[in-house]
Amino acid sequence: MVRFSVLGSGSCGNSYIFSTDSREQTLFDDAASESSILVDAGYSLKQLKLRIADGGFDYDSIQSLFLTHLHPDHAHCAGTFARQTHKPVYVSRRCRSLASHEYLALSLPEGSERTIDPDSMVNVGPFEVSCFYTSHDSGGSCGYRIEVDGKVLVIITDTGVYNQEMVMAAKEADVLFLESNYDVEMLRRGPYPLRLQKRVAGDRGHLSNDQARSLLLEAGFDISRKHVYLIHLSSNNNTVELVSRAMAEFNATVCARGERYCGVV
Ligand SMILES: [Zn+2]
Ligand SMILES: [Zn+2]
Repeated sequence: MVRFSVLGSGSCGNSYIFSTDSREQTLFDDAASESSILVDAGYSLKQLKLRIADGGFDYDSIQSLFLTHLHPDHAHCAGTFARQTHKPVYVSRRCRSLASHEYLALSLPEGSERTIDPDSMVNVGPFEVSCFYTSHDSGGSCGYRIEVDGKVLVIITDTGVYNQEMVMAAKEADVLFLESNYDVEMLRRGPYPLRLQKRVAGDRGHLSNDQARSLLLEAGFDISRKHVYLIHLSSNNNTVELVSRAMAEFNATVCARGERYCGVV
């Protein structure tokens, strides 16, 4: 059984936790120990810990942190987390090799630096994690496919376009976390200057509700067996109602900005 939580999503902060009990047989006892991984850490460490505890998860069970990219709404406390816990923090190999200002600013202690690339799998306790590159204005941004206890969980966020690799990952997912950032009309009529509108809607921006819906349709997302969480809704250019309407035929949870959602698979 895998427990998971969208600890929060949207421009105010993004983070996800995945947790499983692994029973260890010892000579005298069989003790259940919880093992967890975190994807993104876009809050202050204090706020992140609160959200983890409120969701009924154990902060100390976190084995590793995986970052999708280095924008502050995803990586805000990654450095603090690593310096306090000395746990591994993964970014994509491309992201690491760019050695951007944002990466260096994380000040990861040497022992915490790890990379992941699409050709190989990373094993963290019972979790098998692989990544795929996304198209975003943050070098080496990526999404994740997590396999644990025979279940597949996939995160696709912060990408201006989607590709066949993402469609395949969505097809395989038992639980999918998919960006549904903006409504095209609302963005066009909204308060953003044209330059910013172009950034959001560009190839290296975010997924619109229409794009997210197309991805689900292309993946033949099986609504009788699977669940999708629509994440990273823009506060200026989208509403929960608009996303719910666009996704009416899917078994979907629309994640309001900043709210926490828990599930089990
Ligand atoms: Zn971003
Ligand atoms: Zn973001």
